[in-house]
Amino acid sequence: MYTAKILQKIKSVAEAHKNKVKDESFLSIECKDCKTRGHFNKAYHECKFYKAVSAHDGRPAEFSRKPKSPATTT
Ligand SMILES: [Zn+2]
Repeated sequence: MYTAKILQKIKSVAEAHKNKVKDESFLSIECKDCKTRGHFNKAYHECKFYKAVSAHDGRPAEFSRKPKSPATTT
């Protein structure tokens, strides 16, 4: 008696879960920043508000060019 009932319960839960997963595709997600579907927010690289992290190479601009003629050393 128990097993039949439990099995039925498990089956129904699994079925419901499966349907839910199938319906809730991530494509139906709407971005909270640009209102485009397919991603959550601007952390996603296809978001138009996404900011690339590699804006600079890590060096300050002053160090990128060396002085051609060094000033008097004293
Ligand atoms: Zn977006």
